[in-house]
Amino acid sequence: MDLKTLKEESIFEVGGENVNYAQYFEGTSYLNMLSLEGVVIGNVTFEPGCRNHWHIHKAEKGGGQILLVTAGRGFYQEWGKPARELKPGDVVNIPAGVKHWHGAAKDSAFQHLAIEVPGEGTSTEWCEPVD
Ligand code: MN
Repeated sequence: MDLKTLKEESIFEVGGENVNYAQYFEGTSYLNMLSLEGVVIGNVTFEPGCRNHWHIHKAEKGGGQILLVTAGRGFYQEWGKPARELKPGDVVNIPAGVKHWHGAAKDSAFQHLAIEVPGEGTSTEWCEPVD
């Protein structure tokens, strides 16, 4: 799926270019925060080939992230494990403390909702780009 089609068909607003996190992404992504109350939820859209760097959602208690895939084709990979291909309807549970990345396939745009699991002392540590 190309980016234009994905944007046109997106159920949730795609939002503007994700400039605040651009330093942690290869390629262009778009971000629209859907909820900032209670549970933080963002709609993240990736152009084909765009992916984020290795990162860790840290927490002293609880925390982590849940991805709900809404469009396109992409991948999720945990450090030391094979990449998992993702399609709309897939759900990824990412525990706090697990190093991982997520992003689009080379030939397809990709979109997921990113749900921040509430916790105590939460932060994100950004690491190196994916090879
Ligand atoms: Mn993540």
